[in-house]
Amino acid sequence: MNFSTFSKAPQTLNNHDLLARARELAHEERRAGVALLHHLREIDRRRLFALNHSSLHEYVVRELGYSDGAAHRRISAMRLMSSLPEIEDQLRSGALTLSTASQVQNFLRAEKKLTGNAASTAEMRQIVAKVEGKSTREAESVLAVRAPEVAQHLAARKLERPRVVGTDQSVQVTLTLSRELQLKLQRLRDRTAHRDPNPSLTQQIEWLADFTLAKLSGASGEKRKVSSSGAEAMPAPCKNANPSPRYISSSLRREVWRRAAHRCEMRLFSGMRCSRTHLLQIDHLHPVAWGGASTADNLQLLCAVHNQLKSDRLPGQV
Ligand SMILES: [Zn+2]
Repeated sequence: MNFSTFSKAPQTLNNHDLLARARELAHEERRAGVALLHHLREIDRRRLFALNHSSLHEYVVRELGYSDGAAHRRISAMRLMSSLPEIEDQLRSGALTLSTASQVQNFLRAEKKLTGNAASTAEMRQIVAKVEGKSTREAESVLAVRAPEVAQHLAARKLERPRVVGTDQSVQVTLTLSRELQLKLQRLRDRTAHRDPNPSLTQQIEWLADFTLAKLSGASGEKRKVSSSGAEAMPAPCKNANPSPRYISSSLRREVWRRAAHRCEMRLFSGMRCSRTHLLQIDHLHPVAWGGASTADNLQLLCAVHNQLKSDRLPGQV
């Protein structure tokens, strides 16, 4: 097909050229898709997404304009391609789709988490060969044969995905409760019957959430994390000892969390503040190793990504 065919509007092409052009465009789209995966891998390696976002996923959604699902598929396929560089050809030819590559990567990750067994490179190659040219549903069956319990776990997780059902942002989820969990909830109902003899599952979850959050914010402070730039690693000192400069009292820790409104305090390049509320860590603005103190004005709350970004930028860090 020559350039002049590409410059013509589809309505002006004859049947043969129209079909040939559609094939060419699909190939071009897959080629660009693979090139994008290479770029994402490099952006991830340099952690460039952290300049304005708290995760690569957030970057792909907000900066590149993909939906949550499309971003997830591309990042998962990129990770599989990092482990098995040869799938690049299959992705480009269409023998392996982004969806199937993502499915394999998610399955292998869940398998490692659930069973502790990481698939070898040879096993990964075998799996990819088996799902090549298969639809998502067919690939699901192939993976289920390898590890039924992992397939079951992933199916349950899929059902747990919240679906917005109300104008007040209420969501609907489908939960699979093990027999063990059902018995625990029954015991909880028995122990709290004085409050409500027949609470709904939603009420029970709310009680549990309130109770756990109150406990986490209680006397012991928020869960301690070790900051890579140096904080919170030391236990409370005994009365007669000089406190370590890294030591942060529970009350000070609570003050830092409260002041930050339980959210990462990193100011992004865009001027916005990071919105991350997950895996937060207390960090010394001026590192302890450089004489920084554990005082309220020298402490901040950072998410793990931005704490790492800050550490990477400190001179002398490797
Ligand atoms: Zn952050």
